[in-house]
Amino acid sequence: MSVRPMQADSLTSEQSLGWNGRSLAEMLAYSEQLFRETGHYQGVEELSIRQSDPIYYEKIWSRLRGGIVGARETAMNISGSPIVRELGELCFGLYSPEGDSVCVSTGIMAHIHTMSDAIKHMVRSEYETNPGISHGDIFVNNDPQLGDVHNADVQEFVPVIYQGELIAWAAGVTHELDVGAPQPTAHPIGITSRFEDGWILSCEKVGEKDRLNRDYEYRAQTATRMPFYWILDEKCRISGCQIIRDSVLRLVQEIGVDTYKRFIREVIEDTRRSFLKTVKTMLVPGKYSFAGFMNVTHGADKGRMPEHAAIDTAIHGPLEVTIEKDGTLELDLDGASKWGYHCFNATPTAVQAGLWVGLTQTLLPNDKVNDGAYLATNTKLPVGSWADPRNPLCSNNVSWISFLCALTGLFRALSTGFTARGFLEEVVAGYPWTGNATQGSGINHHGQNAAWTNFEMSCAGVSAGYVQDGANCCAAIWNPEGDMGDVEAWELLEPMLYLGRRMRPSSAGMGKQRGGSGFEAVRLLYGTEEQELYSIGNSNVFFGGGLFGGYPAPSLHRHNIRNTDMAERIAAKTPYPVSDRDPENSEMTKLVVGDEMRDRNSMSKPIGLEEYDLYHSVLSGGHGLGDVLDRRVDDVVKDLDDDLLLPRFAYSAYGVVAERNDDGKWVADAEATEARRAEIRKERLARAVPVSEWIEQQKSRVTTMDFITPIRKMYRESLELGDAWTASFKSFWELAEGWEFPEVSE
Ligand code: MN
Repeated sequence: MSVRPMQADSLTSEQSLGWNGRSLAEMLAYSEQLFRETGHYQGVEELSIRQSDPIYYEKIWSRLRGGIVGARETAMNISGSPIVRELGELCFGLYSPEGDSVCVSTGIMAHIHTMSDAIKHMVRSEYETNPGISHGDIFVNNDPQLGDVHNADVQEFVPVIYQGELIAWAAGVTHELDVGAPQPTAHPIGITSRFEDGWILSCEKVGEKDRLNRDYEYRAQTATRMPFYWILDEKCRISGCQIIRDSVLRLVQEIGVDTYKRFIREVIEDTRRSFLKTVKTMLVPGKYSFAGFMNVTHGADKGRMPEHAAIDTAIHGPLEVTIEKDGTLELDLDGASKWGYHCFNATPTAVQAGLWVGLTQTLLPNDKVNDGAYLATNTKLPVGSWADPRNPLCSNNVSWISFLCALTGLFRALSTGFTARGFLEEVVAGYPWTGNATQGSGINHHGQNAAWTNFEMSCAGVSAGYVQDGANCCAAIWNPEGDMGDVEAWELLEPMLYLGRRMRPSSAGMGKQRGGSGFEAVRLLYGTEEQELYSIGNSNVFFGGGLFGGYPAPSLHRHNIRNTDMAERIAAKTPYPVSDRDPENSEMTKLVVGDEMRDRNSMSKPIGLEEYDLYHSVLSGGHGLGDVLDRRVDDVVKDLDDDLLLPRFAYSAYGVVAERNDDGKWVADAEATEARRAEIRKERLARAVPVSEWIEQQKSRVTTMDFITPIRKMYRESLELGDAWTASFKSFWELAEGWEFPEVSE
């Protein structure tokens, strides 16, 4: 067979790129029809390659996957951004001509299906004829309404064309440092509409003949505050896609295009079947319901926020997971809050991103991952909610917050099923809010007007397992391979020195198994006159919860000291704080003279800090699992010795009576501990009331909606928008026929 790989294709835009003379749009429609009619992807019933030669089948898979993982590893070092280079906040994938994911690299697994949606948008919109698709073309997308999580994640698409047919799409995504929004950085918190989201490229053709178009390069110079990094990230993604394209064309040369075509059909169908089998093996059919919450704290910013957006509210993320007997998994977000004038609205494709970060870390950690598994899941999203606003003008910039808060329930649901089936090693007690993300902007220490987002938060504590504590400072829900990055790498970018970065005691949720600990960083503004800084933390709500009686990880707070004596301290070589450690006995406060700013508003708008001001960043730990009183006393003592637990909580929560010996080691008093734990159990019994009594007590509050304003607003939205959720809420609380939401003057 003659082969013409890796050279410009002479196809004109009038010709179809699909297989057997079809257009790509016809291929997609036919694929969907075959799935509807046969229940099999592309109507594939026989896995003929796999059945006739399973080793050959796995070899083809390994060649494709190796090419994609290799592309990621190489491309990572082309980007200059610490978010990409230090943390690996990127991911590559191979897609079928119709846009179905075939194979993905490691990294931010969120994008398995988002990039699929973006390709399908181009296919359905007949990009084949306008703007045309040719060998060497480069397409860019960061539009969450077409196929993305938020516009900080920029995706690149490169067609793989072989003998006049498009045989694949190579795709890659990285997270940017700044998106060119009116409010600087990648995640502008105080914005209210899509017009403030920043630069959005809606599946645009930005390059030809393997080069970026000059007009796009010029536009990139002024469209964001960090053009240098934007262009380097472009080069990173384009190179990765080209490496994938070359590796696919090499494989096709070796195995023949017919085998390749057959393989990409079979492997998606195989993954679909394998997903169903895994669900049937590891879970118990039924319905699993959990809720997650996140707060929007715009109320205190009247004047700064427009009147209609200066509102405090809570985002409700109720999740019902249904496991069917055939292994199908369904997600239902009925009861979710309405979309709002904030940046936390998601899109259906963003919810898929959340689903995939969840599934790849629970059900599919060892198996093939592609859209076959997508075909085995169903997602129900209420129209008009934050999950499916159907409003092209609403902001989606920080959509992560709402869908991840809802999908903490996915982890807890799956873990409940794993426990029931005895897969105890797979259990994880949800996941914590992966913050704080420190963000800032202004003239930096290089004299440049810059904006930055610190991503050391991709190293939060992991939640507890059934048989072990969660790992300390380990990963982020959205990037299971996350790292915190070297302080020197961040200091190159940010005009702030790390005075210290260390594990933070009592940052983990307590339980029989505790969550992994988070960490903290004390930063000193340096080499700049002023920076506008903001924190992104969960302020007043827990992000998900623990499991089986374990406690959630603490929520985060904001702590800065302004107008400090740090310059004098440095000159006089007197001690300065390298940690904060304990909010009730802060080492920052103890050592430094200045104006304290400490509050719970950790999802804040930018504030101005000056050189020598101190900024404290608290990074979450994981949630706990099981009753605190069942924790082994030795484990509590070890946490004290490791300074991962503040001593007062050893006594008050774990009921462990311990003292420091002369060597500075903690020693527990076994007898006193047993007595203290017995006492706590008695106190619990004394506080306890029968459930029926508790419902009776609370019912009047529910009937009159006697809650603080944000919670009342949340309930009103859920009750108005919800369907089955509303019915079950009303029946649980036995609300009278004709009950109406009480009008209260706010
Ligand atoms: Mn992102």
